[in-house]
Amino acid sequence: MGRKIVLIVGDGMADRFDPDRGETPLQAADVPNMDELARRGSTGLMDPIRAGVRPGSDTAHLALLGYDPFEVYPGRGPLEALGAGVEVRPGDVAFRCNFATVREENGELIVEDRRAGRISEDEGTPELAEAVNEEVDLPVEFEFREAVGHRAVLVLRGEDLSADVTDADPKRPGRPVKKVKPTSSDPAAERTAEIVNEFVRQAHEVLEEHPINEERRERGEPPANAILPRGAGQLREVEEFEERYDVSGAVVAGASLIKGIGRMLGMTVPEDERITGRRDTDLRRKAELALECLEDHDLVLVNFNAVDEMGHDGDFEGKVEMLERMDRDLVGRILDEVDPGETVVCLTADHTTPVTVGDHTADPVPVAIWTEDARRDEVDRFDEISVARGCLGRFSGMRLLDVLRDLADLIEKFGA
Ligand code: ZN
Ligand code: ZN
Repeated sequence: MGRKIVLIVGDGMADRFDPDRGETPLQAADVPNMDELARRGSTGLMDPIRAGVRPGSDTAHLALLGYDPFEVYPGRGPLEALGAGVEVRPGDVAFRCNFATVREENGELIVEDRRAGRISEDEGTPELAEAVNEEVDLPVEFEFREAVGHRAVLVLRGEDLSADVTDADPKRPGRPVKKVKPTSSDPAAERTAEIVNEFVRQAHEVLEEHPINEERRERGEPPANAILPRGAGQLREVEEFEERYDVSGAVVAGASLIKGIGRMLGMTVPEDERITGRRDTDLRRKAELALECLEDHDLVLVNFNAVDEMGHDGDFEGKVEMLERMDRDLVGRILDEVDPGETVVCLTADHTTPVTVGDHTADPVPVAIWTEDARRDEVDRFDEISVARGCLGRFSGMRLLDVLRDLADLIEKFGA
């Protein structure tokens, strides 16, 4: 029997040199548990996908789980739908959507608020979604479901569907809802575009008169009287994680995109309302849940998303604070509980989100891997610069799982 693997991903945790501060957030943060991992184990730098590719969180997580995202990435729609708990099958075309506020003007729908006043689940989006599912009539099977806040997902199922279609969401208020168009000459794309336009039209009719929206208007709130689909994607046939590696896996995450990755690969993805994917998430609960999953799985990936948010906000201090929280409540908790003789612990990031840039970049990320007999190098700090002296050198994220499976004794010998 091999060892268990815990893969801790600080989302967008890595950063660049901040000229105002003279260091990176990881260098500035007080992270004794991360440093301990670096001190006790092997360290190095990793290109999440490969040098020069700026990873999305979704494509990077696929790579960390041993899949080539260029082969299997289905686009954001199907992953958001899976993350929201909707079934998506190979061939289905899925969209992420917003509930929005529109007004009619010369036969067009003009977007007034792309988020319908940031309407939420407890303000009636489940009821609105139910009405849309019941009353909209399309020539294909479909499922529309509310997601977090003003978000929702739409899945179309049937023959002759294609993801080669544009968005209905004009992205900015004051503009008309866009007519969805095919982006290829495939007749299935033309048919899908027509179906989505029909969905948008009928959904508006259903929502315009819905009692929840009448009440919102009476209270002076913007009605959620339109749905704006975007990000079409088609789920491909993918070999499930356990089938491919003979390793059972779980993904513990709050962000629906990451949960969607886990579900696409057939992994266990627990739901817990205290785990939100935002900065109000209960990180101690997340650590507990990861440890629970480790009892009956070979590998657990646990993602902490709030660090990335701080990078997007350009908030150096906030990022330092989130890193320190992650160190204490997630990394520290896991190190306290696992047996290094029976577990491989890996700490890394899915990409760099520099506070100086406010978006993901292609810079390599730090990695530390620890198990009882993992090679110890001379690195004793977990940050972007220190780990460059580590014994793992620099490698591709698509190889990470192989490194971990080897240390966990989960790979067959090649030859005699
Ligand atoms: Zn990410
Ligand atoms: Zn991000």
